Amino acid sequence: MSHRYILALDQGTSSSRAVLVDEHGKIVHQAQREFTQIFPKPGWVEHDPQEIWQSQWEMCQKVVREANADPADLAAIGITNQRETTIAWDAVTGEPICNAIVWQDKRTAPFCEQLKSAGLDALVREKTGLLIDSYFSATKIRWILDNVPGAAAKAQNGNLRVGTVDSWLIWNLTGGQRHVTDLTNASRTMLLDIRTLTWDEELLGHFGVPRSVLPEVLPSAAEFGTLAWKGHLIPIRGAAGDQQSALFGQTCFEPGMAKNTYGTGCFMLMHTGKEARKSHHGLLTTIACDEQGQPAYALEGSIFIAGAAIQWLRDGLHLLDDARDSEYFAGKVAEDDDDVVVVPALSGLGAPHWDMYARGAIFGLTRDTTRDHIVRSTLQSLAYQTRDVLEAMVQDAGIGLSVLKVDGGASANNYLMQFQSDVLNVPVERPAQIETTALGAAYLAGIQSGMWSADTLVGARNIDSVFQPRMEENRRNRLYTSWRKAVDRSRGWIEP
Ligand code: ADP
Repeated sequence: MSHRYILALDQGTSSSRAVLVDEHGKIVHQAQREFTQIFPKPGWVEHDPQEIWQSQWEMCQKVVREANADPADLAAIGITNQRETTIAWDAVTGEPICNAIVWQDKRTAPFCEQLKSAGLDALVREKTGLLIDSYFSATKIRWILDNVPGAAAKAQNGNLRVGTVDSWLIWNLTGGQRHVTDLTNASRTMLLDIRTLTWDEELLGHFGVPRSVLPEVLPSAAEFGTLAWKGHLIPIRGAAGDQQSALFGQTCFEPGMAKNTYGTGCFMLMHTGKEARKSHHGLLTTIACDEQGQPAYALEGSIFIAGAAIQWLRDGLHLLDDARDSEYFAGKVAEDDDDVVVVPALSGLGAPHWDMYARGAIFGLTRDTTRDHIVRSTLQSLAYQTRDVLEAMVQDAGIGLSVLKVDGGASANNYLMQFQSDVLNVPVERPAQIETTALGAAYLAGIQSGMWSADTLVGARNIDSVFQPRMEENRRNRLYTSWRKAVDRSRGWIEP
């Protein structure tokens, strides 16, 4: 009997993963492989586009084989990917003309400073919902045109294709038939007008990017092309950037619903419906999906160091053998032993503080401070940073939060989730399947295929645990005040 699976491709920053989702919206099998990180110079981060594609395709074959499935069992494909990372390739040969410039890459920071000095900040903010930063794709594209031999000439002849990772995967899956992207990925390029949902001529002019190199922009649930695999034609029907995909995978379809992903960093997104809310508190306005996978808006706050602080306890301080042990050590500290505060500003502070000169600090040390205190306070710092972002979000969106949906590796930590709920005074809901990024891409493709409705997905969602706030208000206020004091003291630590 033929099964009806959706194949989700989850192309992340450090690994490529493929996931099979059955007709009940459940993950039945997955395969994952890490790939090479390339650091050619300080501040530069690259990936080999062929390795991105090959590792991803290998995982697709592996997951289908290991599930004893067949391409004929695949109803559709959904794609989610590391955002902003930029790839350029030759339209005739399909060969990349240089390595992918990864979102973390800082080589265009000086160009960004020039753009800011030229007073473009307000325009960029108004049209794209973003801040001028090397994080986004536009200045990376400009860098390629200026620095890769032959790039500008190819662009002139109409033989250059440039896109984010979703576009590169779709180009390869469709055998070079389609050069397309989805709106959520496009909203991270700094070239899309997030209100008209089109590439913006004025911004293209400022960044010197020819319209002809860019992909066609489609909603996240759409017809992106077909993969021919062993004689079967499989439609690609969903695509979204990783954070927007996780928001969709958490079935946050309505205004006021928010999810927080606790990975290396933390990414919190709040759905704001059909209205693009401007942030006055250091958040980004970005495109997300409504329940049909059509464009809606979200506010986004990014925290640079979250799970990475636990990695630092493990690899830098050797206080832990395994990140998971942090829960055990935190549990050894007396509940009201609150003196130590860790500010994990190991690479400055992101939203809503945006202080690249802040550095990490530990406050409140005394003779009786132990490893356990430091571990516990580091976990707590993830929760405090989340509260900082959430407070900004609630003010910008003008919507309160009734429940926070969580996912990502560190969301498995029960101590952290309980403390998160306590410090926010909001219930925290952890789903049974925390691979929500891949699920979101599968859901988009399934909705476009008519396999599921949004209601079925909400109904099929299994909750693993709900953490209810149980901290006394006095203690919550005292703790948060002391966190804010610690943040203030760690700001501006190094000289500009
Ligand atoms: P990413 O997708 O950014 O690679 P993951 O979602 O895989 O991240 O989460 C891994 C991160 O979460 C690591 O930084 C790790 O230190 C942290 N982490 C994983 N498990 C736990 C845990 N049980 N408690 C605290 N932190 C954890």
